[in-house]
Amino acid sequence: MTTVIDGNGIADGIRADVSDCVETLADEGVVPGLATVLMSDDGASETYVSMKQQACEEVGIRGFHHEIDPDAPAETLFEKLDELNDDPDVHGILVQMPVPDHVTKRTVLERIDPEKDVDGFHPENVGRLVAGNARYKPCTPHGVQKILAAAGVDTEGKDAVVVGRSDIVGKPMANLLVQYGEGGNATTTVCHSRTEDLAAKTRAADIVVAAAGVPEMIDGEMLSEGVTVVDVGINRVDADTEKGYELVGDVDFESAREKAEVITPVPGGVGPLTIAMLMYNTVKAASLQSGVAVDL
Ligand code: NDP
Repeated sequence: MTTVIDGNGIADGIRADVSDCVETLADEGVVPGLATVLMSDDGASETYVSMKQQACEEVGIRGFHHEIDPDAPAETLFEKLDELNDDPDVHGILVQMPVPDHVTKRTVLERIDPEKDVDGFHPENVGRLVAGNARYKPCTPHGVQKILAAAGVDTEGKDAVVVGRSDIVGKPMANLLVQYGEGGNATTTVCHSRTEDLAAKTRAADIVVAAAGVPEMIDGEMLSEGVTVVDVGINRVDADTEKGYELVGDVDFESAREKAEVITPVPGGVGPLTIAMLMYNTVKAASLQSGVAVDL
């Protein structure tokens, strides 16, 4: 019997916990604040930012939104970040990627105060994660950990394969799986576009986390019986729908579910967790910065 994960249900539970923490902070006069900064005309980026702001409103986090003209010099963005770094009402700062080509992404990430870096992408926070002392776990891999825990998948001693080595998903995911402690202690292999015989790697895995951005590239033939499959991929493919497209993951769901004991769907699997974990990190940031303890 295959368990198909209900990511929305798990995210609801996390949002409820976050709301409780918001109340605890409010009792001490602290209102968590998240600032989003958009320097792009891209429709998808605008949608992501507005989803994040709406999620803030739902859990009682104060949202601040700033838009920078994509043609403005990089310094305009940096000045805004300095202002937000100094603003005591702002506990978390998120710059929606991508930024325009004339702005160096790495410089943006380094300009955010690491204590307010709720994405967890500042080099200091990356270093802390690798050292096993994470301040803010990056939202998507943290969400995957929450899914595994909710599904009762014990990672300890398991062979985990992460397909993808990006800074936002693949690498932090592998780092979390290999850490000491709960949700870690897995023997972890990271695969990427230069990996030879990917199918041999995934077939040998107890847990496969797919984050390659290639529609349905992992099918049932590449998996062994009883595997746990977490599909991070979100890919638009042409389809005969009203919008002219549909969203699919990196996993061919129908053939993979024949083999899997636990599997996440797309949509409705990992996606809802990503924003929930951003709310979680923002509340954690408010707690760390105010010194008011919360039960997260
Ligand atoms: P990137 O494009 O930054 O990274 C993709 C990774 O997959 C790279 O490391 C690449 O290898 C590897 N890869 C590409 N093709 C293959 C292949 N054929 N075989 C093995 N490895 C391959 O993507 P992201 O990490 O940002 O995102 C991955 C997917 O997850 C996307 O579909 C994205 O939309 C989705 N996503 C979903 C989120 C959610 O909330 N659910 C959040 C973030 C992303 P190499 O390094 O060699 O190029």
